Amino acid sequence: MNSSRKTKYIFITGGVISALGKGIAAASIGYILKSRGFDVTIQKIDPYLNVDPGTMSPYQHGEVFVLDDGSETDLDLGHYERFLDINMTKDNNTTTGMVYQHVIERERAGDYLGSTVQVVPHITNEIERRILKVGKNEKFDIVISELGGTVGDIEGLPFLEAIRQFKLKHGKDNCLNIHLTLVPYIETAGEIKTKPTQHSVKKLREIGISPDIILGRTKRHLDTKTREKISLFCNVDFESVIEAIDADSIYEIPLLFENHKLGDIISHKLDLPMKQSRLAKLRKFVKIIKNPKHQVAIGICGKYTELHDAYKSILESFIHAGVENNAEVNIKWLCAEEIANSDNPKKVLDGIHGLLIPGGFGERGIEGKIVAIRVAREQNIPFFGICLGLQCAVIEFARNVCGLEDANSTEFVEETKQPVIDLMEEQKNITDMGGTMRLGQYPAKVKKDSIAFDCYKKINISERHRHRYEINNDFLDELTENGMVVGAKNTELDLVEMIEYPNHPWFVACQFHPELKSRIDRAHPLFKNFVKATLTYKKA
Ligand code: GLN
Repeated sequence: MNSSRKTKYIFITGGVISALGKGIAAASIGYILKSRGFDVTIQKIDPYLNVDPGTMSPYQHGEVFVLDDGSETDLDLGHYERFLDINMTKDNNTTTGMVYQHVIERERAGDYLGSTVQVVPHITNEIERRILKVGKNEKFDIVISELGGTVGDIEGLPFLEAIRQFKLKHGKDNCLNIHLTLVPYIETAGEIKTKPTQHSVKKLREIGISPDIILGRTKRHLDTKTREKISLFCNVDFESVIEAIDADSIYEIPLLFENHKLGDIISHKLDLPMKQSRLAKLRKFVKIIKNPKHQVAIGICGKYTELHDAYKSILESFIHAGVENNAEVNIKWLCAEEIANSDNPKKVLDGIHGLLIPGGFGERGIEGKIVAIRVAREQNIPFFGICLGLQCAVIEFARNVCGLEDANSTEFVEETKQPVIDLMEEQKNITDMGGTMRLGQYPAKVKKDSIAFDCYKKINISERHRHRYEINNDFLDELTENGMVVGAKNTELDLVEMIEYPNHPWFVACQFHPELKSRIDRAHPLFKNFVKATLTYKKA
């Protein structure tokens, strides 16, 4: 940390269409710059009106990524944390909802001293304040701000205006605009087309922003002629028109960017000291992803199986854990409702070497998950339950082992006679839905002589949470007398955090979300061990 440093700001915008992978591009640029020894952080700016994505359906928004401080954020923050290996805070995600909420609160408090409160300057100043705040008073050398959506969206305008002003106020040597656009290949013409990029840059320039670097998302390599054309029409120098070609693995993207000297170009334009990127570790990591020694199949049984973004962090955690086991984890999506209606559920789990039940809300699919868990328990198939996955495992055990036929969660059947899973005490009087779950980091103590301890190799752990329900302690004795073991506990709040079965090769479930803390080169111990157990099961 250097208190006299001048923070540099990189703004990443998207053009032509959404879903070009701006989040991965931002994380990859962050990775390159961090590998050069700079302190880097990234902020996601979401132009929607929700204060945060916590109340949005996964169908709208994919996974909600929870931070240590309990903020519910955009899934891109997961990429940022995984690539940069830093813990972010609520300042790393800004939405239109947050910006307006703050400005309106100040207006009600009379802070604007009689002036008319307007988008320019009040909203744009608030956006500027948030961009500066994420830099934490020059604590970082570089702050990358990724603007969600596509240039041309009405709701993105105040942010683009704020970005334009930012360069004016904080110096053009300290700010850089990177525009990620689509450069499509048109089959019938047999040609790569630059027109969409030209239009998108034209839109940006209308607002007063000229991109310094263009990243062209493309299926095919961008030849010199194409790059020259983009350079000429978009007013960006030739070397700064860089292809962002489709990659087999997202972890390859920093390497591909560096092949085109992106780190040097950014350093030069921002007047940063020229340094060497250190990418050897990432190269090794990608090499294993591309040539794993082993293959294993893991079934994920959830409600949004057709929407893989809803399980983004879990999928990435399996990549990290796969690398550390020199294995590729092949995901097989299992539909809970199909399992519930199947007359031979064992067959549905045929060919998989492990079952994971992820987090979720609401009763749809629950009975199918419980059936799948029973098969895994009885057939000794490695099982990993996360949050709702733990709750379903407890219901299954209570019904089929303890003989509590009506066992259920009050989330699904409010009047159940055997509420083995129940609303946490502090949740009972809550009416607002946004930001009111048990959220963020809480400590827990791991039991010695347990699978949990084998994984963590320590007693004191801390994990991230997002739930309202918990194991009902009134049933705990009955569950443990029948063989369930409490693998970890929050002793202060008297909450069960992990369970496991000793007479099963690997049956572990946790109330928290370990997938939120897995990183490149630092797979989460539970995922790492689970994958190891599936490999052992496959061999046997
Ligand atoms: N619906 C459950 C609860 O609120 C589980 C939540 C989750 O899986 N994230 O407790």
